[in-house]
Amino acid sequence: MTHIHTSICRICTAHCPILVTVDDGVVTAVTGDREAPLFEGYTCPKGRALPAIHAHPGRLLRSLRRRADGSHEEIATDQAIVEIADRLKDVVDRHGPESVAAYTGTSLGVQHPTGSRVAGALVRALGSTNMYSAGTIDQPGMIVADAYHGVWLGGRPSFDDADVWLFVGTNPIISKQYLEENPARRIARALDRGTRIVVIDPRRTETARRATLHLQPRPGEDAALIAGLLHVILREGWIDRDFVAAHVEGVDELRAALAPFAPQAVADRVDVPVGEILEAARLLGSARRGIAAPGTGASMSNPGPLVPYLLLALTSIRGFWARAGERIDRPNVLLPPNHARAQAHPPYPAMSGREMRVRGLEASVAGLPTGALAEEILTPGPGRIRALFNLGGSPATAWPDQALARRALEDLELFVTTDVEYSPTARLADYVVATKLSLETPGITQGTELIKYFHFGYGFAQPFAKYSPAVVDPPANADVIDDWQLYYRVAQRLNLQLSVVNFFGTPGGVAEAPVEVIALDMEREPSTDELL
Ligand code: SF4
Repeated sequence: MTHIHTSICRICTAHCPILVTVDDGVVTAVTGDREAPLFEGYTCPKGRALPAIHAHPGRLLRSLRRRADGSHEEIATDQAIVEIADRLKDVVDRHGPESVAAYTGTSLGVQHPTGSRVAGALVRALGSTNMYSAGTIDQPGMIVADAYHGVWLGGRPSFDDADVWLFVGTNPIISKQYLEENPARRIARALDRGTRIVVIDPRRTETARRATLHLQPRPGEDAALIAGLLHVILREGWIDRDFVAAHVEGVDELRAALAPFAPQAVADRVDVPVGEILEAARLLGSARRGIAAPGTGASMSNPGPLVPYLLLALTSIRGFWARAGERIDRPNVLLPPNHARAQAHPPYPAMSGREMRVRGLEASVAGLPTGALAEEILTPGPGRIRALFNLGGSPATAWPDQALARRALEDLELFVTTDVEYSPTARLADYVVATKLSLETPGITQGTELIKYFHFGYGFAQPFAKYSPAVVDPPANADVIDDWQLYYRVAQRLNLQLSVVNFFGTPGGVAEAPVEVIALDMEREPSTDELL
């Protein structure tokens, strides 16, 4: 029997609406859903590969336990959970609750958002505060820069209302960052409308190839180049004087700090022709509305929050913020309404005051620094992390310094991961709990509404939401669970009460919204639908 189901791809935050062809219980094709007007049938090769992902011969269908010699053997998932709970209790009894940590990677956060909520509840119920995430590897500078600069509570204008877009180290056509829905077509339409697109990127990316102006600085020199643009904009007086007078402080200090970044000096330093620097500054300085958007490239190759901070400064002196009466960009559908106000929120502390045990590092508004996690595992003394849950991440390959990461993961007394394949991280785990693939479990677009509070490159341009029930069952011979069930069942065995915090309860940002703490029924296991 052939059925075609409407669903959503959950491989990335775009959550493209898809049509899934299922033949006799097997996913055989995925195409874009042309009935979803916002996306116009768009999918990328990853989404269209969902049938191959579901049918992959390396798919993990059963959980694994590590043997003494480092190899793995199959274990019933229920038995794995019992053993994990018992070993976790032993670690907590001997080392205290702060010896337990969890790390959330990008896969779980997007594909199975219930997993990180319930895992967080387990870590809290154990008495630990050690929640780490990929957010401090990727673009923590965005969140830190907001704290240093202050936040405009009205948000930004819509991309579609802006007449200049500046992308720095980001490639939306491939990453979907900033343009979640059908990015190439949105760029083509914007160019047709007369929008000017400026890309700063050492690489001639797919987005750069379509740009009005592509500046190709030496790698790692984005900040100097943007400083040069700001220098010109201030020198030429291309500032929104009314907005600055009403809402902005520190322009004279900014001007003084940028004095060394005259166009020719910057051109020599970053290896971009001076004429291109002047032209980019003119496009930004003459626009009525603009958006300046940094990406992962700028985050990883420049010092900390410098690039996002400079782009916030540019946004403020040009008055590129949404004003009273304008429509709210990226409105909520499943989350409560976002209450935008045309008002500045002053800078706030970027650092949390919580000191790490290594290198004098400190947690920031972006969270505990994952860059310190391997050393927190390896460094002896009180507070040393001895048990780690990996939630859909890839610590063995994604943490900075892979050799150090591997040593740390091998040093843990208990390392538990969920996975759908025998990945480099799974190979190092004491227990690998086999979990469902995305089309085998319900999905919802709510997470994408949340992420925009941390990074304005996410969220849907128009009111859009979709829920999808599971489309197929796992293979008949599989012993797999939803990710969240691991943490719930471990808590059950340890007689812990779990309370999940709703999406607005996630720390960070200054969103004004209700935080709801929901106690889970620990007698009767909820369904994934109930959690969603
Ligand atoms: S863009 Fe993201 S959500 Fe859309 S098909 Fe590709 S991976 Fe899936």
